[in-house]
Amino acid sequence: MTVQQTNIPSEIESDDDFRARLRTFFTDHHPGKPPRDPKERLAHQKAWNATMFDAGFSGPSWPKEFGGMELSFAHQVIYQEELARARVPGPMGTGLGIAAPTIIRYGTQAQKEEFLAPMLRGDKIWCQGYSEPGAGSDLPSLRTTARREGDEYVVNGQKVWTTQATNADVLFTLVRTGTQESRQKGITYLLIDAHAPGVEVRPLRDITGGAGFAEVFFDDVHVPVSHRIGEENEGWPLVRTSLGHERAAGAMNQAAVYRRVLDELTALARERGRASEPLIRDQLADFEIRVRIMRYNAARIISDILTKGEPGAASSVSRMLITAFEQDLHEFAIGLLGPAGLLTKDSPHAVQRARWLTGFLRTRASTIGAGTSEIQRNTVAEQVLKLPHDPGMPPR
Ligand SMILES: Cc1cc2nc3c(=O)[nH]c(=O)nc-3n(C[C@H](O)[C@H](O)[C@H](O)COP(=O)(O)OP(=O)(O)OC[C@H]3O[C@@H](n4cnc5c(N)ncnc54)[C@H](O)[C@@H]3O)c2cc1C
Repeated sequence: MTVQQTNIPSEIESDDDFRARLRTFFTDHHPGKPPRDPKERLAHQKAWNATMFDAGFSGPSWPKEFGGMELSFAHQVIYQEELARARVPGPMGTGLGIAAPTIIRYGTQAQKEEFLAPMLRGDKIWCQGYSEPGAGSDLPSLRTTARREGDEYVVNGQKVWTTQATNADVLFTLVRTGTQESRQKGITYLLIDAHAPGVEVRPLRDITGGAGFAEVFFDDVHVPVSHRIGEENEGWPLVRTSLGHERAAGAMNQAAVYRRVLDELTALARERGRASEPLIRDQLADFEIRVRIMRYNAARIISDILTKGEPGAASSVSRMLITAFEQDLHEFAIGLLGPAGLLTKDSPHAVQRARWLTGFLRTRASTIGAGTSEIQRNTVAEQVLKLPHDPGMPPR
């Protein structure tokens, strides 16, 4: 894919000028509210991805050669802050934060050219096929196999909880090429065409009523060896690869988003005449402290990246704080609204289109997806607090 951008800032553009230029772009091209229908919503998001990409306002940390902006870190933070301020979504997709940094670091030039720009532009939707029944927290026990036959692998097995699988074009997966006993030493990183014969996607309904994730079955699926990232049996270190600047700036974006959401919640408390109640004030003050900690922690991740090259365990601290915060915040909002807080968005009396109830239901999964809170706590205990290794887990 030929990549030609026009809006990439020069090294010397001042922070203020860059911020002003982003603000103008987001105002002039604001995509508007996403439609309710899931198919229309996806088309809307893809169109917005393409608008940002074609204008050169996509991929803040990505190399320019693949359509990114290759921004300095200060400019990346401004970019994330302006996205949150304008209430526009960033480029969509699991692939961007996880698969892309892996391909940038370990992929061949041909793989980079084939996969990166279409992923960033939203032409191809990617999803993460790691988890399996029986292989979630203990991912090295995964059982989906890939058998080499000439220039192809033949894949058989099952993945589960695959977010966005129903819309995906590509699955980035971990498959077993070694023996079951070889655990993480027998795992390979493969990119699988979601439309290939033998791939079956079965949607799973979630608590919000949507089907955000799915089960994926592989029955003799043929995958070219050229779609393997890294070497055979050496996929595991790729999983542990740094998620890089995009993820750190993403933590900054979440802090900026929750800053805005907390201001909206405080306004709601005022509107409903509850803001002067001591218990409500106390709780809002607690959220205020937590949202500020979130921002400082994002700054800590950024500093770790600048000094050590990767976010390290600070990202586990960040995830634990954010996931607990978003659950508490939505639960509080529902309590604040009283019975009205339980009305769903179909009700004409729902407050703010039931955003707080939907948020409450959606965030039930926050402390499970992307590694459960227990697993994050283990990481923090071992890597930050230097406590002994969890005796329930095999040695690393
Ligand atoms: C909304 C959502 C989206 C997801 N999207 C994806 C996706 O796109 N792609 C993908 O590959 N996966 C995805 N997942 C799967 C997710 O990564 C797993 O659910 C998660 O890693 C937990 O694995 P599990 O469900 O198998 O639970 P298990 O690992 O079986 O854990 C069950 C319970 O035991 C606890 N536990 C397990 N081991 C330990 C331990 N050593 N110490 C302490 N406690 C422990 C866990 O914390 C948990 O409470 C998603 C999950 C959710 C909820």
